[in-house]
Amino acid sequence: MSENRIRLIERVVDLENLESISASQLLDFNKGREVRAKADKNKRSKCPIVCARCENSVVVPMHWQTGEYYFKHFDKFVECPWTSEGSISIDQANARIFQGQQEGPLHKKLKEKMALSLAACPDVPDIWVDEIYNSRKFKEHKKPDIRFVYKDRTFVFEIQLATTQRPIITKRNKFYQREGFSLLWITSNPEPKALEAHKASVVDIITDHNDNLFSVDDETFRRGDAENTIVLRVHWWEGSECKSKIVKLDDLIYPEDGLPYAIEKPKPWNERWKDSWVSITPTSGSIYRDRIELWESLIGKYDLDTNADDLEQNHYGLIYLLNLLLSIERKMLVGTKQKNLTEVLNTFFSTESRQPFARIAEYFLKKANEGSYLTIQSTQQKLNEARQTEQIDKTSLEAKIVRVLFPKWT
Ligand SMILES: [Zn+2]
Repeated sequence: MSENRIRLIERVVDLENLESISASQLLDFNKGREVRAKADKNKRSKCPIVCARCENSVVVPMHWQTGEYYFKHFDKFVECPWTSEGSISIDQANARIFQGQQEGPLHKKLKEKMALSLAACPDVPDIWVDEIYNSRKFKEHKKPDIRFVYKDRTFVFEIQLATTQRPIITKRNKFYQREGFSLLWITSNPEPKALEAHKASVVDIITDHNDNLFSVDDETFRRGDAENTIVLRVHWWEGSECKSKIVKLDDLIYPEDGLPYAIEKPKPWNERWKDSWVSITPTSGSIYRDRIELWESLIGKYDLDTNADDLEQNHYGLIYLLNLLLSIERKMLVGTKQKNLTEVLNTFFSTESRQPFARIAEYFLKKANEGSYLTIQSTQQKLNEARQTEQIDKTSLEAKIVRVLFPKWT
């Protein structure tokens, strides 16, 4: 038996204190011995140490050759995705849980602990555990793990310990969103190493939470108890590195069209470039020295066939084009002392060096649902005049730059 073969169960949870223990922790002989004794003592009790995947009791034998401790299901016939090696799919293994018939002991324990933390929280006037919620408006009901009111908001906590099928997740997201509830999918704390290996099983809820994953563990419960509130751990990724920190409900961001999250996704390069452009562009316009650096980074990033001086000398109108498109996209005037977008457009369309961009500006306004500006008579007239000038074509440097900076609109 190879080492990997015996350490199939990667993580367990002690239901007595909700401590999460990984297989690698057993390699410390004293820790291993301590967990072994406890697992054996509690294997038939109400608070055993359970497999984090199938929620069945585990014991801790010692491998006869290597002398190392490892986790093993107490009942060797259980169906677990960790040990059944492809003979059982994760979906099959968890079907029993997610058909709402039966929950594993870890699921129950986490629910109970979270409900206790919430009940102790002075900002939570109402809490329902395992109670059916009926949507009168949509004649549909669901049975969330926990529903509660916190300050002015109704929350739903759904515990997810293993794969839930995408359609079920999407349905619940939609249902609660329609009701105006803030839904959080919560898992038991996967230590980053185990999380990486099993990210696939929780990937859908990570995606829906803006690439955040929420979890609870013994430490979050301790912190919450100490402060009479509920705290969660949020995990997020920076490149391939997984980070985590403790958050409270007040720390979360609640978008109108999605699930709450705590950590913003890193912005894409083009968005950061535009942020920098806006920051060097006061109402009096940007200065040459500040622009050069930005031009150079743009040219380098997209391997453009030009240089900063060429842009400054031969494509000067681009500065005004970018300021205009940013003003439209961000709904705030960039690099102008004028009072509103109508004034900006009128100047733009009647300035000779900017007229070749009239069609791009027109297209952009329509795409951004700001086409109504073009129905203003003075603007329409100036646009028509501007379009008499030869317009830049799709292969021009300006068009290329607009495409990479504003992919959403082009
Ligand atoms: Zn298992």
